Amino acid sequence: AAKNAGRNRYAYFTPALQVAALNRMRLTNDLRGAVKGQQLALYFQPIVHLATGRIHKAEALVRWQHPLRGMVSPCEFIPLAEASGLILEIGQWVFHEAAGWAQRWRAEVDQAFQISINQSPLEFQREGVGYDDWLRHLRTLGLPGQALVVEITEGLLLDANTTVSDKLLQLRDAGIQVALDDFGTGYSSLSYLKKFDIDYLKIDKSFTRNLAPSSSDMALSEAIIVMAHKLGLKVIAEGVETPEQRDLLAHAGCDYGQGYLFAKPMPATDFDALLRAQADQS
Ligand code: C2E
Ligand code: MG
Ligand code: MG
Repeated sequence: AAKNAGRNRYAYFTPALQVAALNRMRLTNDLRGAVKGQQLALYFQPIVHLATGRIHKAEALVRWQHPLRGMVSPCEFIPLAEASGLILEIGQWVFHEAAGWAQRWRAEVDQAFQISINQSPLEFQREGVGYDDWLRHLRTLGLPGQALVVEITEGLLLDANTTVSDKLLQLRDAGIQVALDDFGTGYSSLSYLKKFDIDYLKIDKSFTRNLAPSSSDMALSEAIIVMAHKLGLKVIAEGVETPEQRDLLAHAGCDYGQGYLFAKPMPATDFDALLRAQADQS
């Protein structure tokens, strides 16, 4: 595009682009103070066992309450956090927060309760650190690794180096499970599924959105579920918004569903109340 612009070298520096770049710089700057300034919150979204309708797991999703801008979406600030390296600090905060709640809910409500946390490629591949500090913290809490699931994306496994396989092994040794997030949107190669020990596939919401009997997304979802089960993996469908989608997925043998139909991501205290209400019902 630069070459096509020819002599007009100023094509890059249109006001709109300058404003966007400035905006990113300002947000990144604000993000630096967000962790210490207690502007981050961890929200939880239930993951529902489709056959019983019960909640045994939740995905932890970070939120940033900006003092002036209000809620900033992770889609906006996670990329900035990655580019600036702040993602490591945020990831540590998310881990500690999630581990604390997992311990509480397992002790007080459901001893098999599991929390998923997202790891962007940069966090997962961070050099030298490994998950030693996590495992130490889990030992301190007396929390088994089974309390946590780490969500990573396909791209990470596609060009997997030894760092990636080492980290996967380290998680596995500690009992922490692994989920492949946004499955089906990245790369078509499936060979990594036999190469690495993965516990869950998360069907991306772009498939769930268009589910209808004998639609192509239905066929793809069914194929993913059958394949996953044959490989010994459980399947979680993301973005379940309607009872029809839930029923089609349940009928296709999908293990878990997550989406606005069940609940939107919510603050920990609200999720705590939801879990306790469910426990009282049984
Ligand atoms: P993700 O891991 O794929 O998370 C699922 C996203 O789908 C969440 O968006 C969730 O609110 C949204 N969602 C859930 N149910 C529905 C539904 O029924 N319909 C629709 N349309 N959307 C639904 P959210 O919370 O905005 O997070 C966006 C992404 O930001 C996440 O995608 C994840 O990649 C990233 N992210 C969030 N928290 C963290 C974190 O703590 N660390 C890292 N590294 N990334 C995070
Ligand atoms: Mg996720
Ligand atoms: Mg996802």
